[in-house]
Amino acid sequence: MSVLVINEIKKLREIIKENRKEPKTIALVPTMGCLHEGHKSLIAKASSIADLTIVSVFVNPIQFCPGEDYDRYPRTLEADKDAAQSAGADIIFAPSVSEMYPNLQKFSDLTMVVPPYELTDIMCGKSRVGHFDGVETVVTKLFNIVQPDIACFGMKDIQQLFLIKKMVRDLNIPVEIIPCPLVREKNGLALSSRNKYLSDEDKVKALSISRSVFAIRDAYKAGIKETKKLFDTGLANLDKGVELEYLEFVDENTFKPVESVNQDTICAMAARVGNVRLIDNIILEV
Ligand code: AMP
Repeated sequence: MSVLVINEIKKLREIIKENRKEPKTIALVPTMGCLHEGHKSLIAKASSIADLTIVSVFVNPIQFCPGEDYDRYPRTLEADKDAAQSAGADIIFAPSVSEMYPNLQKFSDLTMVVPPYELTDIMCGKSRVGHFDGVETVVTKLFNIVQPDIACFGMKDIQQLFLIKKMVRDLNIPVEIIPCPLVREKNGLALSSRNKYLSDEDKVKALSISRSVFAIRDAYKAGIKETKKLFDTGLANLDKGVELEYLEFVDENTFKPVESVNQDTICAMAARVGNVRLIDNIILEV
């Protein structure tokens, strides 16, 4: 059966209600589309567990900061249908902005889900102020619309994954979050919809981001524990044409910065190649 594309919340709820008549496990994979092998790994994981796998494709305006790439973000629904279907999705939920936010022009009127400041004033949240408010709000809405038993999130967006797990705990949302490993190109580059923006020349520069996190992991394995030294190792591996936004070492259970790393430390980086912002991370145990 080919994947069903649904644009309306009411219609999706009707279909889910039908499916709920039998005891079925429902999975949700939230995405912004432009699906690649990273997204497909989440969909495959979801469909290996669930009876009904729903992939949302929605470029969520409220998680973009002013001046970011909301308008030019790649929208490729036709190709996404094939990708989602081949990975095992049953339904694509692709709502319009007005379907999700009927009153977006009055943005200040929207009820938001806001993660704790101390967990967003680091890493991606520091430069993307309000980004995680937008993420948590849309994910909460999607959870309420679909009411999934499980939801898959990628470890590529490691701070997002941490905050979603915490939100689900804090707000008693009845969904199990399944973390899925970061998928890379063979050469190491973390797969991202934003890689589409990169020219061949930029891709060579971007490769130095994964090179940098791998070098840090290797230095850690060779016995270096001090973040200051590991930071320098990372920096030394970055291409001159790459502008570092942050390179942080945090504990994977608390997301608090650490001075000396161990097997529970996440090394996370964001950097710009031209005007393209890319992220990568590695858990040092790997
Ligand atoms: P996005 O469409 O970028 O919002 O991502 C949707 C989901 O796919 C998020 O849970 C991401 O963490 C996940 N994802 C994106 N890229 C990758 C990747 N390279 N490996 C694993 N998961 C990914």
